[in-house]
Amino acid sequence: MRQYRRFKAQHPECVLFFRMGDFYEMFDEDAKTVHEVLGLTLTQRSTGIPMAGVPHHAAENYIARLLGQGYRVAVCDQIQDPKDAKGVVDRAVTRVLTPGTLVDESLLDEAASNHLAAIAFTEAGDDSAAVIAVAELSTGHFVLRDVRADQIIDEVARLGPTELLYVETADRSVPPRVAAIRDAVGCVLTARPTWTYRQAEAREVLIRQFNVHSLAGFGLEDDDPALGPAAALVYYLQETQHPDASDEDARLAHLRPPRRDPGDRYVTIDHATLRSLEIERTMRSGDTAGSLLDAVQNARTAMGKRLLREWLCYPQRDRSVIEARQHAVEVFRADDALATTVSEHFSAIHDVARIVGRLAVGRAFPRDLVALGRSLGTIEPLADSITDIPALAPWATTLDELREPLGELAATIDRLCDDDPPAHLREGGLFRDGIDAELDEARGLQRDAGAWLAEYQQTLSDTTQIPSLKVGFNKVFGYYIEVTHTHTSKVPDTFTRKQTLKNAERYITPELKTFEDKVTTADSRAIEREKQLFENLCADAHAETTTIGLFADCIAELDVLRGFGELARMHRYVRPTIVDEPIIDIQQGRHPVLDQRLADRFVPNDSELGENHGHLALITGPNMAGKSTYIRQVALIVLLAHTGSFVPADRATIGLTDRIFTRIGASDELHLGQSTFMVEMTEMANILHHATDRSVVVLDELGRGTSTLDGLSLAWAIAESMDGIGSRTLFATHYHELTTLADDRDSVRNLHVAVREWGDDIVFVYRIMPGRTDRSYGIHVAQLAGVPRSTIDRAKALLDTLTVQTSEEGRRRAAQSAPTAADQLDLFTTYAEHPALATLRSIDLNALTPLDAFDKIRAVLASLDRPDTDAE
Ligand code: ADP
Ligand code: MG
Repeated sequence: MRQYRRFKAQHPECVLFFRMGDFYEMFDEDAKTVHEVLGLTLTQRSTGIPMAGVPHHAAENYIARLLGQGYRVAVCDQIQDPKDAKGVVDRAVTRVLTPGTLVDESLLDEAASNHLAAIAFTEAGDDSAAVIAVAELSTGHFVLRDVRADQIIDEVARLGPTELLYVETADRSVPPRVAAIRDAVGCVLTARPTWTYRQAEAREVLIRQFNVHSLAGFGLEDDDPALGPAAALVYYLQETQHPDASDEDARLAHLRPPRRDPGDRYVTIDHATLRSLEIERTMRSGDTAGSLLDAVQNARTAMGKRLLREWLCYPQRDRSVIEARQHAVEVFRADDALATTVSEHFSAIHDVARIVGRLAVGRAFPRDLVALGRSLGTIEPLADSITDIPALAPWATTLDELREPLGELAATIDRLCDDDPPAHLREGGLFRDGIDAELDEARGLQRDAGAWLAEYQQTLSDTTQIPSLKVGFNKVFGYYIEVTHTHTSKVPDTFTRKQTLKNAERYITPELKTFEDKVTTADSRAIEREKQLFENLCADAHAETTTIGLFADCIAELDVLRGFGELARMHRYVRPTIVDEPIIDIQQGRHPVLDQRLADRFVPNDSELGENHGHLALITGPNMAGKSTYIRQVALIVLLAHTGSFVPADRATIGLTDRIFTRIGASDELHLGQSTFMVEMTEMANILHHATDRSVVVLDELGRGTSTLDGLSLAWAIAESMDGIGSRTLFATHYHELTTLADDRDSVRNLHVAVREWGDDIVFVYRIMPGRTDRSYGIHVAQLAGVPRSTIDRAKALLDTLTVQTSEEGRRRAAQSAPTAADQLDLFTTYAEHPALATLRSIDLNALTPLDAFDKIRAVLASLDRPDTDAE
């Protein structure tokens, strides 16, 4: 327990898995934790200490579940053979597992990157900018990003780390701006000591890690604010991977030098947009299924799957990059045979990016090596199949350069390793026969023991002239020579007596003894030799870390592009023309997700914005008519176009876009403890501050969270502002009054969703038409939804009385009014101050008798000019 407490004290923030024989045991608070979280049985040692344990071979599964719940785990192993121990066996913490530092295949989702991030705020106060260092230990990717203060949450959300490091505060509290990130993004927070962030040490840590003299080569000055978080991250990785190693040994060879990413190469997508466009997961369930990512995911390899997510979250703003991708997509779309061949090669490619990571931290398995060999074996045929295709030249060139170094490694692995390797080295059988004399001998002894014994028996029997002489084996006494009593006189001196039976004697010879020793140790010698060979081969592979990394990147890209080609072919996507002018021209566009779900039942629509079509479209129409679907569809097509993918449409021209903004009603969801309306206005403020004439903005039902008049006024003013900014804007609204904006503004267009009336019913046809609607068909929709007939009838009657004062008069007035705020407000004020309301307001309910009430109502009705409504 003293030893245990020592390790526990070194890793107080971890659940400590303490190896005891065949079990990992947890004690004290840790035992209670695993009891609660994993349902393990709690026992007590004689000393009264709570304890719980798991069999060592099942530990991974339990560790995975703990990590899934946000816990950290330290694994303390026995590092000495218990037979050699004098007293307590030596132990050491061999691994620290945290959500952001995983490398084991069983603990990771192959389709999702597992990012660890470290943040540092570059100025004091709440208004500061930040530097974020992001790495993925499993693949070695390492990027530094500078982020403006108001985009920190957006950026962290896009990066999607599972764990975020921040500088520990004096009182150990979580700073509010860090807590805000966690609440929005849902990552685990890890406080780190201040010194791990300090500039002077930071430089040292990075120089040692990357084995360089200066960091200038990475574009990092000695006083660069990015040094802090970069080093804090590296140090944390080293600490978790090599808890006991010296600084020199703790280097992570596969971690790539940090790449400084200025971020201005991408279309900005903020947190709200990422969520509301359901780019990587749906809002309702939070699952990938139903998201854009899911709809366009066609990658074959794990690396391609992860890269696709990145491309969707980081669309390109550089036309040449987009077009280069498009050319490649077109090749795969058009050339069926090529696409098929390439796909077949991809299905043989394993997750080499992560295999390299496991090799680097010494957690690779035999199957990883074989998988690596097989994957690298595709370079040759893959390079051959895409060579001479101009659009694929960049990738063909890379593969060509990798042919030699990696082809050799692939051949070596293939030559040395069995096609069907064991899961663990201890099972033996990773290496082929005939590749290593020592291994062959060890295995030969095991295998050929029978033949040797038979031959030995024959020789002895001949030389001693004892025909019945037998050589045998028994578990207790080992190998022996058995001679019946009748013949014992012929036994030579070289035989030593071992055992006497009823009618025979058993002997041993020095020769047989040697053989016995060899055979019994052969098994462990073979395993030992395989281990050595494995380490050598891992070292060979490890030496190619950088080139394998290049291969992984190249395959990931080709795979996504091939997937885009397949997508275009399967779902009839077209190549969008990318232009510099801020326009959108989509013919017969479809919503990528609903298009696949509804297939033929999905109704395509055109969208034209910018240039002479006006840049602000106001979309009105009844509930459920398809407004939200339509405006999201446009945003998604714009986004897809910037990834290099083709788009679901018959034809599309998309102008380069700097940001995509969406403000889409988050229904009544509570967010960060703010009210829906507050969230809505915060997001709107962000849009108004940052949208440009190069942006695409999608606004859905703005102003719902407040009173009608407030909402309408805000929606109106916001529409005017957006018009002024000149972003390509789609604004779906239930405020029909807004449509008058188009009357005297050329840049504003009205669209409506057509519905067909069918007697008393309506039918949705999901077609977007120019012009406005005057009717919202709310009552029809309520009827469709099954609201009782009597309520519907009453609503209809009320609608008739109200219509008189609103739309007709309102529209006439608004159309005449100059677009000054005061005038527009006047329009609503008039409506609000109908005399009937004044009468109602004057009523003092406490002083009203039922008879008086009746009189008042009669008076109100009279003033409405409709004395017979509801008179009965
Ligand atoms: P609104 O925002 O006008 O209330 P939605 O866009 O939410 O309407 O659409 C409601 C439903 O109508 C969608 O869930 C979808 O099933 C269907 N829908 C919308 N647009 C289309 C379309 N273009 N083709 C076919 N069905 C559609
Ligand atoms: Mg809607």
